[in-house]
Amino acid sequence: MQSEPHLREALSSRHYQSLLASLNQVIISETLDGLVSSWNAAAERMFGYSAEEMLGRHITRIFPDDKLNEQKSIIEKISSGERLLQLRTVRLDKDQRPLHVMVTISPILDVQGGIEGIASIVESLTDLIFKEKALNELTKYKNNLASIVESSDDAIISKTLEGVVTSWNRAAEHIFGYTAEEMIGKPMLTIFPPDRIDEETQILNKLKAGEKVDHFQTIRLHKSGKQVHLSVTVSPIYDSEGNIVGASKIARDITEKLYVEKLIWRQANYDTLTNLPNRRLFMDRLNLEMNKAKREMHGLTVMFIDLDHFKEINDSLGHDIGDELLLKVSTRIRDCFRQSDMVSRFGGDEFVALMPSLNQRADIDHVSAKLLKKLNAPFTLEDGNMVYVAASIGITVYPMDGHTDQELIKHADQAMYEAKRKGRNQARYFIPAMQTSLDKHHQLGVDLRFAIQNNEFVLHYQPIFNLTTNRIEKAEALIRWNHPLLGQLAPMEFIPIAEETDIIHPLGDWVFKTASRQLKQWIDRYQLPLQLSINKSPVQFNMGNDVPAWQAFLQEIGLSGEHLIVEITESTMMAQSEVTQKKLLGFADAGIQVAIDDFGTGYSSLAYLNKFHIDYIKIDKAFVQDIKHDCSDLHLCEAIIVMAHKLGLKVVAEGVETEEQHRLLQSIHCDYGQGFYYSRPLTHEALEALLANSALVAV
Ligand code: C2E
Ligand code: CA
Ligand code: CA
Repeated sequence: MQSEPHLREALSSRHYQSLLASLNQVIISETLDGLVSSWNAAAERMFGYSAEEMLGRHITRIFPDDKLNEQKSIIEKISSGERLLQLRTVRLDKDQRPLHVMVTISPILDVQGGIEGIASIVESLTDLIFKEKALNELTKYKNNLASIVESSDDAIISKTLEGVVTSWNRAAEHIFGYTAEEMIGKPMLTIFPPDRIDEETQILNKLKAGEKVDHFQTIRLHKSGKQVHLSVTVSPIYDSEGNIVGASKIARDITEKLYVEKLIWRQANYDTLTNLPNRRLFMDRLNLEMNKAKREMHGLTVMFIDLDHFKEINDSLGHDIGDELLLKVSTRIRDCFRQSDMVSRFGGDEFVALMPSLNQRADIDHVSAKLLKKLNAPFTLEDGNMVYVAASIGITVYPMDGHTDQELIKHADQAMYEAKRKGRNQARYFIPAMQTSLDKHHQLGVDLRFAIQNNEFVLHYQPIFNLTTNRIEKAEALIRWNHPLLGQLAPMEFIPIAEETDIIHPLGDWVFKTASRQLKQWIDRYQLPLQLSINKSPVQFNMGNDVPAWQAFLQEIGLSGEHLIVEITESTMMAQSEVTQKKLLGFADAGIQVAIDDFGTGYSSLAYLNKFHIDYIKIDKAFVQDIKHDCSDLHLCEAIIVMAHKLGLKVVAEGVETEEQHRLLQSIHCDYGQGFYYSRPLTHEALEALLANSALVAV
């Protein structure tokens, strides 16, 4: 108590005033009524009010509205005996800006120990709050970071410069199969495949040099031993002094992505059915090899392989069997080539092969012959059926036959067409003359569309002689196209195009109707037991069923089906399905006979034909033309005739050109002969003249 009067003295002293003024702390005193009794320089600085402005004014001048009631509770607390009060609150400066402050309040006592007023020390909290805020943010950020690291799909790992793992997030656990406990403290090398151990030294060296490793693709091992493909980014970790103390590693599992990419690449470059490269990949490789051939001054060979009559097989046996066959065919084709060659499927039944180092004629011939031979062997399908296939092959050699990839392919394609036109099942080299023939091919396709309505087709008739009676018993209707520009075209020049464009259907109908009407006239006029043979394209035969329509037409014109023979080729029979059998039965029911044309050039055996309802076989002119005494073709023809007769079939020999052939055929009991020796195909007028002559007889 002794000191108190002394203090009071001191408080009022000038010395005290200057002390207050020089303090950096804001010290304010007020009466119990709240009137400011002292306001030091620091208070002036903090609040912007001068001492004059504040002395004697109510302290609540610096209180925000929502803090006004604080004054009452301060006075109450101090009055009730509290000696030290600390308050975190807000005050306003002269510009009404809020100031966050800590106010420490204590009573000012008079000599009797009664409370005279209060003194407040005011400290700004702005700095503190800022620091707190920053700290808060930092903790938040750290937590955030931790949760980002933990929830990341990428493995986030840190390691020392010695390669010892120091952190291992959840994704790392997932990607590599090791838990954090298992890995922390262990060498990073634990997950390295043995052949990639060197990478770790390289990575660590780079890091020590302060470099970053960016999106480096590599492989690490899962705990199970399974390979994991990764894209890795490794960056150095620095301490506060800027020394490199370790490395952080972000590793993305790209196993799936690589797999999908590979799949996409395969899908874009490979044929899904046969697994052979597709056109795109082939063209890439062709370009590569052409450049190489150019540099190294050698040639290369392209083979365009197109299956014969594949469309018919596909149409009649169904796409599943078609696919099965294509797969088997592709294996055989592949087997004819070397590993260094490329065999691709261009689509459908088109295969293209590239032989990068082959350009010797003899070698190419060897390959194409091998191909034809391999493909000609029967294919046994899963259902036990046998199918026969042949192919036409077009060949180009770089650089003679084309300077660009497109040219080489186009010309090989043209040569392949030529092989088809020349009778299929063979290989052709490209020659420049084929180019015009292809353009013609295209033009003919266009012209064909209008040819029927323009009446440009005519039928010629080639007599067929009975070799026992020497009479004309039958005639074969052979179509001709009187093309307005190109003159008369032989069927081989346009039938294949009609087959490709489906014009074969209306065309086949036209042939049938024209021949039937013609025959009806002749029969009515000459009362002859004449039969007409009509050729039916395999495409036409296999698509739909026109027997009912034909029957209706025959009825309409009053012609019996017995006067007609339909000639189909062996390839039509190749599609040895129930459908074929049914269709042939349909003809039989309509009284129409069936002949197998060009027998011997296809692949059917006589025993095989036995399954079908067939009346005649026509031995192809290729066999007939070479028959001489004591030659193998004669024996072959004889064997065919003997077997055919056993099966109840009659035999027609085609392409008989000489008397010798005629006699030999008679000697081996061939039933019918057809050929230039007897008669060329005739216009209907010429045949009619022959019939009128009633010759019907005699050569
Ligand atoms: P193909 O059915 O084998 O017809 C016989 C072909 O041999 C005819 O050729 C005929 O002129 C020819 N030829 C006849 N005798 C001899 C001979 O002694 N020596 C030689 N070297 N050839 C002879 P063309 O008229 O050029 O017909 C060719 C092929 O066109 C026919 O062969 C046939 O497959 C097809 N064709 C003809 N007309 C039609 C038709 O109306 N429809 C269909 N789809 N194809 C037809
Ligand atoms: Ca024929
Ligand atoms: Ca024939």
